[in-house]
Amino acid sequence: MPATTDPRGGPWCEDVPLPGLDLEPRSTSSGPSANSRPYSATLPPTPEAIAAFWAKVVRAPGDGHWLFTGAVSGVDGYGRLSWREGGVSRTESAHRFALLLDGIDLAGVVAEHRCNEPLCVRVDPDHLIPSTQAANLNYAVACGRTGIIRTSLRRQDRHARSLAVRNAVSGGWDPIAYSAASGNTAPLDTPSLF
Ligand SMILES: [Zn+2]
Repeated sequence: MPATTDPRGGPWCEDVPLPGLDLEPRSTSSGPSANSRPYSATLPPTPEAIAAFWAKVVRAPGDGHWLFTGAVSGVDGYGRLSWREGGVSRTESAHRFALLLDGIDLAGVVAEHRCNEPLCVRVDPDHLIPSTQAANLNYAVACGRTGIIRTSLRRQDRHARSLAVRNAVSGGWDPIAYSAASGNTAPLDTPSLF
C-alpha cells in the first residue's frame, strides 16, 4: 500500500463532487464525440479538390464516358473523393462531385447514370443527370438506401467491376481494355438495355 495515499483520492469518491466544487459533467471532456473529425455535408469543393478530381478523369473520345480513376468505394463501387478545408472534411461520390461542379445543389438530388457506367462523371443527358422528380428514390435515400442496389451481392459485383474498369483505363483511354473490363461488348452507338 503506497505511503502517500490521499484518503479523498480513492476510486470510491472519484465522481463525488467535493463541497464548493462545481464539477462539469465528465462527458464534456471525454467520450467518442471528442475524437470525431469535423464533417460538413455542405463544404464547397476546394480548388485543390477540383484539380485532384479532374486529374483522375480519363475521357473517351467523342460522346464517350468520362471515367473517374481515383478511389473506388468498397461500399457501393462508385468513385469517391474526400477533401478538407479549415479542419472540416467532406466525402462525396465522384459522380455527385461532378454534379456539384456543374453548379447543381445536391440537396434532395438523385444522381442518375443514363449511360450505365458507375464511374462515369460526364454531366450530360446521355451520361449523368440530376434527378429530382422521382419521389420514390428520394424516399429511399432518406431511408438510407440508394434505391438502386438492393443486395450486397450486387454491391460486390459493382465494386469488382469498377476496380476492373478503373485499372483498364487508368493509363489512358483504351477501348479494348475498357470493353473487356466493363463487360460492355456492344457497339458504342447501341443504347444501353438497362
Ligand atoms: Zn457515361
